[in-house]
Amino acid sequence: MPLYKKTKIVATLGPACSDKESLRKMIFAGVNVFRINFSHADYSDVTKKVKIIRELNEETGRNVALLADLQGPKLRVGVMKDAHLTNGDTFIFTTEKCTGDSKRAFMTYQTFPQDVKVGENILVDDGKLMFEVLKSDNKTEVTTKVIRGGELKSKKGVNLPNTNISQPALTEKDIEDAIFAMTLEVDWFALSFVRTGEDLQMLHNLIKKHSSHKIPVIAKIEKPEAVKNIDDLIPFCDGLMVARGDLGVEIPMNEVPIIQKKLVLRAKQARIPVIIATQMMESMIENLVPTRAEVNDVANSIMDGADAVMLSGETSVGIDPANVIKHMSDIIVSVEDSPSIKVPRVAPHIKTDRYISKAICHHAALLANDIDAKAISTLTNSGYTAFQISAWRPKHAHVIAFTSNKRILNMLSLLWGVKAFYYNNLVDTDTTIKEINKIACEKGFLEKDDFVINLTSMPVKEKGKVNTLRVTQVN
Ligand code: PEP
Repeated sequence: MPLYKKTKIVATLGPACSDKESLRKMIFAGVNVFRINFSHADYSDVTKKVKIIRELNEETGRNVALLADLQGPKLRVGVMKDAHLTNGDTFIFTTEKCTGDSKRAFMTYQTFPQDVKVGENILVDDGKLMFEVLKSDNKTEVTTKVIRGGELKSKKGVNLPNTNISQPALTEKDIEDAIFAMTLEVDWFALSFVRTGEDLQMLHNLIKKHSSHKIPVIAKIEKPEAVKNIDDLIPFCDGLMVARGDLGVEIPMNEVPIIQKKLVLRAKQARIPVIIATQMMESMIENLVPTRAEVNDVANSIMDGADAVMLSGETSVGIDPANVIKHMSDIIVSVEDSPSIKVPRVAPHIKTDRYISKAICHHAALLANDIDAKAISTLTNSGYTAFQISAWRPKHAHVIAFTSNKRILNMLSLLWGVKAFYYNNLVDTDTTIKEINKIACEKGFLEKDDFVINLTSMPVKEKGKVNTLRVTQVN
């Protein structure tokens, strides 16, 4: 296994990875980011795990990041009792609290009768059950016909692919969870069921109000509206997640593969990271080896250009989370250097914001490929240049970010190929470059005679925007 794999692994926390030793094993097997899934999080449990992960970062010298995944307007049915539904039956969804049965179920979405239209579909339990809306009393009850019946179990998720849902993307629960997550100083947020840029702006505003620094936000793409509005969403987010679980319910699942490819390409063009999520190694919740189809899915996602691949149930409730991560790391290492991986290489336009930094990062990647440089290093205060270099995907060069801003060290771990280190001795450019190259050698990224490309801002003391590219041969 090389020193560092470049494609990153996001692993969801859960009961299967509760103690320090399990989390340590997962980190050594290749986890770069732990996801806190706020659909199922208990605050005291999360606080305990975050403390352990921070301790492990200190002990291992790794910078594993924390991603707070907010549930968004997830709809559910209430508690059910003996509800076996038959195709063709009439079934009622009500917004008045009740224990459900084979005639009716409580629906958590209070304005459902006002928002839904006749003929729209209701999908429950990952689409296992399907209903068609016959009528609504516009107050509390929606009458439907069972199209695909079966057992309707308690608290199962509801998807309304055709309904124009009036609930905001950031619910009261999300606001509470986000404020709690900010007290833990998480490194990333992800927002579920995003539909528009305004949904994301609400979260940015909340972050501005409660955090002294910017926390980047990932838009989870799982609604047909988000797929349609992707160009409008991108300026409001710092990364995308192809959330294939709900996406494959909201749209026919056979359409997901092409949408995945389009979303990855769109993220690459925008030079923001993209995570592929859900059921990547699903069989490993119960088994110790993946299926060949799963191996192919992970490999193909990386070949599409994914920056990170995500595990959900495999690590949160699976039988051996560290083993899943080891298998995933092995797949990554086998495919990520393939010459068949192509990302768009359209040079930044001179009229774009931060053109100088963008152009330098672009040319650093081109030059690294030309001279077979072993590393591109950047001194960064906000992480911006690390995002840019990562997006250009230099062929063999490691992307090493040096920063005096401790808050971004872990955040950068999500980015393809990026490894971040703390450095604060900003005296003059010559000294700084000498020192950071020495650190890169000590960490095993560089050897004698290797070429390294250093990006800095001159004068270095001012911590300005990157404006300088220097090439050094290690002696
Ligand atoms: C998904 O739906 O694919 C997803 C990642 O979201 P969640 O795990 O929150 O359902």
